[in-house]
Amino acid sequence: MTRKPLIAGNWKMHGSLADSRALVDALRAGVTAGAPATMLLCPPYVYLPAVNGWLQGSAVAVGAQDIADKPGTGAYTGEVSGQMLREVGCSHVIVGHSERRALYGETDVVVATKFKAAQAAGLVPIACVGETLEQREAAQTRSVVERQVEAIVEAAGVQAFAKAVIAYEPVWAIGTGRTATPEQAQEVHAFIRGMIGKRDATIAAGLSILYGGSVKGANARSLFAMADIDGGLVGGASLVAAEFLEIFRAAA
Ligand code: PEP
Repeated sequence: MTRKPLIAGNWKMHGSLADSRALVDALRAGVTAGAPATMLLCPPYVYLPAVNGWLQGSAVAVGAQDIADKPGTGAYTGEVSGQMLREVGCSHVIVGHSERRALYGETDVVVATKFKAAQAAGLVPIACVGETLEQREAAQTRSVVERQVEAIVEAAGVQAFAKAVIAYEPVWAIGTGRTATPEQAQEVHAFIRGMIGKRDATIAAGLSILYGGSVKGANARSLFAMADIDGGLVGGASLVAAEFLEIFRAAA
């Protein structure tokens, strides 16, 4: 089964409305309809309607960086539901980013609940997993990633991965300029695909597994050349149009 590469930009809490407009204009000019890879932009919540509007008629997709763990509407101050994200044009949503886990205390259970809330609203969740440097040095990479993926499989079932994406993001590589080598990343990607494959080989073969962690134009091609790396989740480099387009072209 062929997996169409996905290049997702996580803007985090960066930029202004004007910066966003300039970035979107430059990116959409570089992505043609029918491109062999998909570009996805994940701006801050408040910019979603504007970004979606600027991208009308383009092949670039829009996603969110987070989602409430509750469906519909309700008394959840500060939260944004999956239905609301759909209304403003999102197709995807990131869940379980390491910054959400580390800074906002999101547990594996919360991440799995958000994953399910995303799918219930018709969104494709991009579930982030990955170990810290301390865990890697203690040879715990596989057990950490296994625990994070298993929590979602237990909550949502393996069938849920037919409409989901996993992003392997070693925490020590995020925003540090220190990228996993293609071989290090491939090893974990193959491990994740194998975990899913033990339950359902067809779903595993079709599952997109992105790599995230200091992806740049200069290292993208060698990462994306690996058999189980199906694109990237990109932070810092997604804020620079020329750099992000270079990464996109490396996948396309
Ligand atoms: C991220 O935010 O998910 C990320 C991978 O960031 P960076 O590309 O800056 O390392």
